[in-house]
Amino acid sequence: MNTTDSQPNVAVVCGGVGAARLLRGFIGLVDPECLTAIANVGDDMVLHGLNISPDLDTIVYTLAEAVSAERGWGLEGETWQAMEMVARYGATVGEPLDWFSLGDRDLGTHLFRTQALAAGADLATVTAQIARTWGLDLRLLPVTNDRLRTMVTTVDHGEISFQEYFVGHQHSIPVTSVRFDGAAQATPGPRVIETLEQADRIVVAPSNPAVSIDPVLAVPGVRDVLERRRDDVIAVSPIIGGKALKGPADRLLVELGRTSSALGVAEWYREVVGTLVIDTVDADQADAIEALGVRAIVTETIMSTPAITRALAELTIKS
Ligand code: GDP
Ligand code: CA
Repeated sequence: MNTTDSQPNVAVVCGGVGAARLLRGFIGLVDPECLTAIANVGDDMVLHGLNISPDLDTIVYTLAEAVSAERGWGLEGETWQAMEMVARYGATVGEPLDWFSLGDRDLGTHLFRTQALAAGADLATVTAQIARTWGLDLRLLPVTNDRLRTMVTTVDHGEISFQEYFVGHQHSIPVTSVRFDGAAQATPGPRVIETLEQADRIVVAPSNPAVSIDPVLAVPGVRDVLERRRDDVIAVSPIIGGKALKGPADRLLVELGRTSSALGVAEWYREVVGTLVIDTVDADQADAIEALGVRAIVTETIMSTPAITRALAELTIKS
């Protein structure tokens, strides 16, 4: 790494909650101008006519220390009066739209994003303005300005959108496949490829491999850079002791043909990741991971304190 004359340039490939937590560890550790988060937009949707970008907002709210600690997404001190009103009206056509909770303060972000996009701004520009307004000085890049939608094929409900699966069904239904609608036609957002090319280190956050990281890799050109730069790519396993801390990553790994383990994550990422950071409880899998040609580093990976989070972030750029 080119760390002699300056700070390393770090690019972090991000989903939502797991990524936002790791990004916190980089704040104050690397210069903000050397830190870029490249984020998933496969969870994005239009609801009530509003453009909603859950992973981008989770990153912004978390880094701004404004996220709800209890929920891990959305804003602290939130009220829900607008949603209560929506629920009171019920539905005229189709399903009632109150299954996806939007807080009153959070709605302001979606109103701003929606009007700016409608006025002709692109998602990267709107996102930069949202991040700046919250006082963030890292660069937060949506992986693409184009429409990309994660679609989930389920056993009982056919193909549904990611949010219908994740929120509507609380990710508790069996899945047979995942695809990224629009990905093949999407163009990487401004500076996405250059940032990945020029970074001293590319960090794949401990996000859901199947539905948070894979949609980022599906944008043409992104996976290619990581494959080519594999030796400089380090991932943190989101699976600890065979389980995801939250969400369906463990079940999805199994449903999509791998095992729910640090080794399963290594198998999933082996073409794009040269090093995998795994938790101390999974130390016994290090040899099997290395046998795949993936370097394994064992450490504490549950980011329960700022010190642990910081140490984990530091490890990803120094080892
Ligand atoms: P979402 O997009 O908001 O659903 O979140 P992500 O895909 O970014 O992250 C979800 C994953 O983050 C889950 O699989 C969790 O296991 C993982 N995760 C959350 N917190 C931590 C943590 O402290 N350490 C590790 N290693 N993984 C975490
Ligand atoms: Ca997400």
